[in-house]
Amino acid sequence: MKQSTKAIHTPFQRRDAWDALQIPVYNSLAYEFEDAAYMSDVFCGKVIVPDYSRVLNPTVMHLEERVIHLTGAKEVSAFTSGMAAISAMLISVASAGKNIVSSRHMFGNTYLLVTRTLARFGVEARLVDLCNLNEVKQAVDENTCCIFLETVTNPQTEVADTRALGKIAKEWQIPLIADTTIIPFTEFDGKTNGIDFQVVSSTKYISGGATSLGGLIIDYGYFPEISERIKKEMVFNLGGYMTPQAAYMQVLGLETLEARYRKQAASAKKIAEFLESLPEVKAVGYPGLKSHPNYELFKELYGDTAGAMITFDLKDKEACYDFINALKLIHRATNLFDNRSLAIHPSSTIFGPLSDEEKKDMDVKDTTIRLSIGLEDPDDLMEDLKQAIRR
Ligand SMILES: *Cc1c(COP(=O)(O)O)cnc(C)c1O
Repeated sequence: MKQSTKAIHTPFQRRDAWDALQIPVYNSLAYEFEDAAYMSDVFCGKVIVPDYSRVLNPTVMHLEERVIHLTGAKEVSAFTSGMAAISAMLISVASAGKNIVSSRHMFGNTYLLVTRTLARFGVEARLVDLCNLNEVKQAVDENTCCIFLETVTNPQTEVADTRALGKIAKEWQIPLIADTTIIPFTEFDGKTNGIDFQVVSSTKYISGGATSLGGLIIDYGYFPEISERIKKEMVFNLGGYMTPQAAYMQVLGLETLEARYRKQAASAKKIAEFLESLPEVKAVGYPGLKSHPNYELFKELYGDTAGAMITFDLKDKEACYDFINALKLIHRATNLFDNRSLAIHPSSTIFGPLSDEEKKDMDVKDTTIRLSIGLEDPDDLMEDLKQAIRR
């Protein structure tokens, strides 16, 4: 089966009492058992069926099964948000005295998670240039617990070679963990790209138009001890398991993912090329553009579509504010991959709480605008962009 078929045709584990075509939302918190011995088997993990919805729920399980079907993963775990999935992932590999090798080009809250929160528990963040393999090799040592990266960094749109990084990780028998939020997991093969675990903010593409928060850990099963920790310790003890309401919406989102993604990516490419042609635009960041420094590598790893996030630079911060204020159709809002298009000035918002020095280290510039392209007609979007830039 091809991806778009799998996204819709993943059988339910059990037949629904009414033969409902869509997975029901199982709002029940607890589940009853026939007898004491079976109940004990379930609680001791000998049989995997729902007992309590903080740790297992039939609707959430079905979302996890669809993602397994789509990715060929061994296990998938669904969480309440992207950050819940990322924190559970990193907590399951890190411990005091260990270090995480990663980059300064990271989503704001992930950066704060590793540099502030995990630092308080004695975990060191070794932030290097992941596009420079020698730097990576020098940073990794016997106390490194993982290499972590984002497949397309936000807002720098940098693309590192996961296959080469995966080889370094393999030499040290540590996992390569990738936040793959920006390009959906249906579009590439994480395994052949050298990735051991994907973490995804399913709030973005998967939710189907900003319907719900969610996060996923996609686990290819190369590190059984870590898999066990995610399913048991992280889900049970941290309590960030996805809600059945969110899972229901994300199952629906998966069914339309390919159609939405392909259209959004095609519009984004057209718009990125258009922005590049405007004299007021100093630079455009989009890995599907030939002018992008990682264009060839991106194509090799992720194929012909390059997502729906574009960044571009104007003269200065004031020009960025004027542009944002002049938009008529595109919304002034954060989030990515909503059905509607969004614009934000990352430096003063998402990265606003960081110091100027930190922003400089992270290459977050106050001349940069980030766009998320929605499902509108690209001609209407270009018209709005043009009038706002001309202002
Ligand atoms: C949005 C986002 C996150 C955080 O996801 P939430 O669902 O908002 O917690 C993490 N990584 C990337 C790349 C994101 O875009």
